Amino acid sequence: MLKNVQPFVAGYRFGSVGVAHNGNLVNYRSLRAQLEESGSIFNTSSDTEVVLHLIAISKARPFFVRIIEACEKLKGAYSMVFLTEDKLVAVRDPHGFRPLVMGRRSNGAYVFASETCALDLIEATYVREVNPGEVVVIDKEGEHNLCLMPHPEPKQCIFEHIYFALPNSIVFGRSVYESRSKYGEILATESPAECDVVIAVPDSGVVAALGYAAKIGVPFQQGLIRSHYVGRTFIEPNQSIRDFGVKLKLAPVRGVLEGKRVVVVDDSIVRGTTSSKIVRLIREAGAKEVHMRIASPPIIASCYYGVDTPSSEELISNRMTVEEIREFIGSDSLAFLSFDSLKKYLSSDSPNFCYACFSGNYPVKPTEVKVKRVGDFLDDGLNGSIESIDGGWVKAQSEKEEKVEHPV
Ligand code: SF4
Repeated sequence: MLKNVQPFVAGYRFGSVGVAHNGNLVNYRSLRAQLEESGSIFNTSSDTEVVLHLIAISKARPFFVRIIEACEKLKGAYSMVFLTEDKLVAVRDPHGFRPLVMGRRSNGAYVFASETCALDLIEATYVREVNPGEVVVIDKEGEHNLCLMPHPEPKQCIFEHIYFALPNSIVFGRSVYESRSKYGEILATESPAECDVVIAVPDSGVVAALGYAAKIGVPFQQGLIRSHYVGRTFIEPNQSIRDFGVKLKLAPVRGVLEGKRVVVVDDSIVRGTTSSKIVRLIREAGAKEVHMRIASPPIIASCYYGVDTPSSEELISNRMTVEEIREFIGSDSLAFLSFDSLKKYLSSDSPNFCYACFSGNYPVKPTEVKVKRVGDFLDDGLNGSIESIDGGWVKAQSEKEEKVEHPV
């Protein structure tokens, strides 16, 4: 909903505060219920608004202690930046699910962003990551660092490296480009295919495909061209729009594909419908064989920390074996990056990552009801189940009617 677009700016008794939040709180419903119980009124259905209310009701002084007090009540993923009239405050949750980096411009100004590629765009220099559980306060005296939250083992989102971040970014202290290239190389070693050409599903499959092609010594070519007019497909609200999106987004290059044995590398498979469309596109362009290679392990569980994957029932790898998925998408062969190899590659850094979407082991237990978004209508489950949507209006529903989705 438009009203959920960030940053949020709110006025309270000591002035105004703006907030931008990357991540998702798993205890949002109970926090909101408590606040509503004591009279708070909400404008949006976003979990971020809860944080503003917690700051407003805190009695602590100075301002950043209010933020800390509010953050101590939050569970889940949050990398947040607050702006008041005289302070800039950046906070990262104790698990560090989502990235947050600090940079400086040539005039000395401090900047914060999720990815280092944003710093490059404004000619800022990367300084360092905001550490998990760290609070950085910037004011006219300079930078103050506080670590007031407990520090368990970090659980940084591995999916940032697989799909989300841009390849020119450094995320969690690692180059995204190097990671993806390595995933492609490992995939080529584990699951080579006799082929004439390696192509990628643009854009997030490109670097892994380059790594795959280099390892097996077969040329990488652009067999699919992406139109930049439409956004990412897997978050499109319903199936018909998703399918339309794939057709609009990707166009095959007949000259590259015709008569060839093709390896196509993608970053992940979510529902499987995008992959089946892609395989069909490549075959229709004249490919003799299509071998699908996926540069991540199978996604079997939904994310509760801010990546908009669908519910686990909709995830194809949660319902089918690799062979059944191959048959569904219509490729001649299919292979995923193995989970063990991914962890082996990360080596001693491996325990510092969240892999819940591949394993179902959630570092912070999602205990609350989760209802996934359908288009613009629902995004937090507060208004009822998906079935309760009636012509764009959401019907109220009693507690016991609500469908509880238990994590794997
Ligand atoms: S569940 Fe998956 S997508 Fe979500 S934070 Fe963990 S690794 Fe990232």
